[in-house]
Amino acid sequence: MERRADIGLIGLAVMGQNLVLNMNDHGYSVAVYNRTTSKVDEFLGDAAAGRDTIIGARSLRELVSSLSSPRKVMLMVKAGEVVDIFIEKLLPLLSPGDLIIDGGNSHYPDTSRRSRELAAKGILFIGTGISGGEEGARRGPSIMPGGNPKAWPLVKQLFQAIAAKSEDGAPCCEWVGEEGSGHYVKMVHNGIEYGDMQMICEAYDLLYRGLGLSHEEMYEVFTEWNKGELESYLIEITRDIMKVKDTDGSPLVTKIADKAGQKGTGKWTGIDSLNLAVPVTVIAEAVYARCLSARKEERKEAAGFIGEAPHGRLSGDERKGVIEDIRKALFASKIISYTQGFMLLREAADSFGWKLNYGEIALMWRGGCIIRSSFLGKIKEAFDGNRSLKSLLLDPYFKEIVSGCQDGWRRTVSRAALAGIPTPAMSSALSFFDGYRSGQLPANLLQAQRDYFGAHTYERTDRPEGEYFHTNWTGTG
Ligand code: NAP
Repeated sequence: MERRADIGLIGLAVMGQNLVLNMNDHGYSVAVYNRTTSKVDEFLGDAAAGRDTIIGARSLRELVSSLSSPRKVMLMVKAGEVVDIFIEKLLPLLSPGDLIIDGGNSHYPDTSRRSRELAAKGILFIGTGISGGEEGARRGPSIMPGGNPKAWPLVKQLFQAIAAKSEDGAPCCEWVGEEGSGHYVKMVHNGIEYGDMQMICEAYDLLYRGLGLSHEEMYEVFTEWNKGELESYLIEITRDIMKVKDTDGSPLVTKIADKAGQKGTGKWTGIDSLNLAVPVTVIAEAVYARCLSARKEERKEAAGFIGEAPHGRLSGDERKGVIEDIRKALFASKIISYTQGFMLLREAADSFGWKLNYGEIALMWRGGCIIRSSFLGKIKEAFDGNRSLKSLLLDPYFKEIVSGCQDGWRRTVSRAALAGIPTPAMSSALSFFDGYRSGQLPANLLQAQRDYFGAHTYERTDRPEGEYFHTNWTGTG
């Protein structure tokens, strides 16, 4: 009898092709289909040449009929309505108990909806975040699956085989939870990525514009940083970017237009943090920093009209000390960003009724993905030590680290403000930290203002919670 494929994959763009090759390397036979079917032939004749357990299909019917039962079909297509279109087309071809997997960057409410709709039809559904780009897909991505829990045993072995492995060999893939939780975790991961990148850019700006370091010198700084607490993929690639030269010998990075692009997952994280009332300030600032950078023409006009920053150079007696302060500011801000990201995950879990394992989530991000770093191991330890930890700042290890960084962090933010070098992520992280550990904030005045103009009432410090008061502030009427 003809051998049937273990899984079918639809969407032979960069992610799909590489995932197929990765699955096949691990002994799985894969049937492949693409809307533009010429890409199936190109793939089979090129990247997949000589692999007889990768089977091409020129129609969805052919794809589905070549699968072993229960059938597993993975979509690696453009996120949005294209996913719904394929689900609609697949439904008449599938039987109850079969599984559809969406591995694209879908928005989590769509995944929750699809999970529910397909469950009602007897079809299993998984929405999974896949991180690590092309290289991750090929060599081992971080995989964050959620959806119908009955589907997990059908793909657990395959997913954990193709996923990245952390240093201790654990796969960077574990079941996240119900409905859209896998895509939610991926969305927050991407938001954290925005924050990490922005904070590194601020450190670069402080070193380059503020201290006048050359790119060779910054290469050395990032090399040193990558040997310590900040060790991570993003610091590593930043280090490597420092030494890449353009044809005229100047650093290539200085020739790149300072206008950042974005695809939307950082924005989704920011919007969701507002919807759930969680102060995820670092990620939001990182998104806004990209928005501001994109207004290049307007900034140039303002630079001419208002003038450039007051000093442009960082103060400080000793360059080495100032660099160390920047490192501490970067590390402390990073801890704040992850603190906020995990606060958002906790709130989402409470709101949507998901049971998330925060330690496992940190582990999933330790390898294969853009935010991979040794620091995530510490986050896992914190949540393993206390599964109901409200915030990383309430963990003894992180409290100690942030306390140790505090002076350098404050000096960095102050020096940046005096020099007129923007540090939106680092300074908002510091403000969050100071707000979070303040027993008293000026919201008492805010409540008075709200009551003054809108009779919104207020609670009193000397009366039980839940008792509301209103004052006629003008004494009139
Ligand atoms: P992509 O450019 O997002 O999507 C291309 C695929 O979608 C092709 O197979 C294309 O078919 C299909 N497609 C687009 N519009 C279609 C339509 N109207 N009807 C039917 N098929 C349609 O591919 P990708 O970069 O490999 O990403 C795949 C998914 O993974 C996306 O959701 C993406 O956000 C996510 N992702 C990407 C990365 C990355 O680094 N690229 C990383 C993580 C996650 P045709 O060939 O016929 O046009």
